[in-house]
Amino acid sequence: MPNIVSTPVNTVEDIVNQLTEAVHEHRIQPGTRLREDEVGDIFGVSRTLVRQALRSMAHDGLVTIERNRGAFVARPTLREAREVFQTRVLLEPQTARAAAEAATARDMKVLERHIALEHEALDRGEAGLALKLSGEFHLEIARIADQKIIEDFLHQLISRSSLVIALYWRRRTALCESNAHHELIEALRAQDADRAEDLMKDHLLDLLTQLDLSDRPTAPTSLHDVFPS
Ligand SMILES: [Zn+2]
Repeated sequence: MPNIVSTPVNTVEDIVNQLTEAVHEHRIQPGTRLREDEVGDIFGVSRTLVRQALRSMAHDGLVTIERNRGAFVARPTLREAREVFQTRVLLEPQTARAAAEAATARDMKVLERHIALEHEALDRGEAGLALKLSGEFHLEIARIADQKIIEDFLHQLISRSSLVIALYWRRRTALCESNAHHELIEALRAQDADRAEDLMKDHLLDLLTQLDLSDRPTAPTSLHDVFPS
């Protein structure tokens, strides 16, 4: 297990990134309590910074803040899990269509670079980073489509998708199939809006079918096991 605290942590963004990565890599389980003093000790930062980081993660749906109880890694119900992907199925095919109509040569380079980085991360065994890049591929398509509001909304949905994967996915290491992303790139390059829309819809429905219908509990992890000092 990589000790990711070796990277110096100075800002709220650093804390958010490291905690998010640990959630993406399923090293911190949904439902784990994130105590401000414990997180502060682990990263060597003030509770003020920790509080800001946890609020930012709550905004992205990764953390739930309960009054008088503190912050926990969010634990979406099976119903919410399905809803995350159903919402993506509603939004993203139209976004892919708009992206196919708007994509420039420069946009195509950005998407190809994304896929290359994802493969490199997988080769290095950095599954959390690969999952993050895989999600960002979808955000990049919303950016190309110039749909700012949908892009913000997707940011939250994709964050939640990683929790859903941790809880309900049949294959624990599931990422977007890179084939699906390659096919999307080709449709965008050809400015084939119909095909881009269909491919995105198929891709997301495919992800939805990977959800396991049986609700199974996972034991919360201790933060100190995740970030050994
Ligand atoms: Zn994908």
